[in-house]
Amino acid sequence: MEFEFSPKVQELQRRVQDFMDDHIIPRIGQYHEEVVIGGASIPSFMEDLKALAKEEGLWNFFLPHLKDDEPGTKLTNLEYAPLAEIMGRVMWASEVFNCNAPDTGNMEVLHMFGSPEQKEKWLKPLLDGEIRSAFAMTEPDVASSDATNIQTMIKREGDEYVINGRKWFITNAAHPNCKILIVMGLTDPDGPTHQRQSMVLVPMDTPGVTVERNINVMNHISPEGHCEMLFRNVRVPASNLIHEEGSGFMIAQARLGPGRIHHCMRSIGQASLAMELMCERALERKTFGKYLHEHGTVSEWIARSRMEIEQARLLVLKTAWMIDAVGAKEARKEISLIKAIVPSLQTDVVNRAMQTFGAMGISPDTPLADLWTWGRALQYADGPTEVHIRSIARMEIKAASERRGQYDNFLTPPDRS
Ligand SMILES: Cc1cc2nc3c(=O)[nH]c(=O)nc-3n(C[C@H](O)[C@H](O)[C@H](O)COP(=O)(O)OP(=O)(O)OC[C@H]3O[C@@H](n4cnc5c(N)ncnc54)[C@H](O)[C@@H]3O)c2cc1C
Repeated sequence: MEFEFSPKVQELQRRVQDFMDDHIIPRIGQYHEEVVIGGASIPSFMEDLKALAKEEGLWNFFLPHLKDDEPGTKLTNLEYAPLAEIMGRVMWASEVFNCNAPDTGNMEVLHMFGSPEQKEKWLKPLLDGEIRSAFAMTEPDVASSDATNIQTMIKREGDEYVINGRKWFITNAAHPNCKILIVMGLTDPDGPTHQRQSMVLVPMDTPGVTVERNINVMNHISPEGHCEMLFRNVRVPASNLIHEEGSGFMIAQARLGPGRIHHCMRSIGQASLAMELMCERALERKTFGKYLHEHGTVSEWIARSRMEIEQARLLVLKTAWMIDAVGAKEARKEISLIKAIVPSLQTDVVNRAMQTFGAMGISPDTPLADLWTWGRALQYADGPTEVHIRSIARMEIKAASERRGQYDNFLTPPDRS
């Protein structure tokens, strides 16, 4: 087993970190002024930074199947992991490198399942960072952590599909560059449970598509939006179907595998940043005659945070390695393990850091409140924690039932004869 990254990855780690240090971290204040206080959707420097990152070849790291004629650096999931961790430390940084969700997942869907025309029209501008996209699955009226509940209708009429339904928490839908949606709905409501759903491409400007509101998350307004949307008699050409009718559930599963691991990689970066800030604060603040780190409680928070981060990072890397080696389907237990562990770990570590900062910890003067909000949201997004825990338990019990009897010799009940 090799614990060191390859020279190629170490070089990329250095270059991404340098880019963060030179161009992104110095603009955190400006982002705050323009977007958080000023209400802009996109900071004025975003397109210039994207062009610079692309020029430097720091672009599209997330796509292991990137073709030679597509822009970006082709990496495995394991090679991408440490870069995502660096980018994740600033909430908006991944967009600079065209590695931001949900566009990454949507690009993967189009890469894997899109027709040549769909790729030319939508994948190409997404890979070039010219447009953004959204993925619309969740609905207010049904428990959407079980995707078989989805009710939006996608009905074939001649050469078109007609879409009717309501979606919410659709990330990116408020972004001015969001031009295309992948919508999941029912094409065959009476078919087998996992073959009723399909996915279609819906341009944002199609008549009948309405963004009704950008939903605040923990009272935080995100400029790209987590939106409630209405689809009323929305008509798209039949050629906008992705892959084939009935494949929606299968595509959703394929899309969420790598997406979940990317979120976890970024969250490890956020937890690390929070821990480092906690240490800084504990070194400079004194109460009752001692520095904060000299109080047992705070020193335990620091040690516990380090222990948890290191454990989680190793599991995230193992999961990335498994996706590369055997695919997301075979790695589904590991994907559920990290998705159940990392978002709560992130909020636990950030919570300790906020407490160490005193009242300042929940003010906008540190990134901690924003990080915590995102970690909390991630306990739902891409499947709630409890659903992943359920999957892990089911897989463990299935394995146990297959090896039943194997442990009989470990059991030594008293002879009652
Ligand atoms: C910030 C943010 C961004 C999002 N972005 C998107 C997006 O871009 N596109 C999109 O389609 N969706 C998006 N979502 C929605 C997200 O995927 C859903 O919220 C999630 O799938 C859960 O669905 P639900 O909200 O309908 O919860 P429900 O399905 O109603 O579940 C409610 C709760 O029940 C519990 N539960 C469910 N099943 C079990 C079980 N088996 N055992 C124990 N407890 C269980 C869980 O605690 C769960 O939170 C986003 C959500 C957030 C918060």
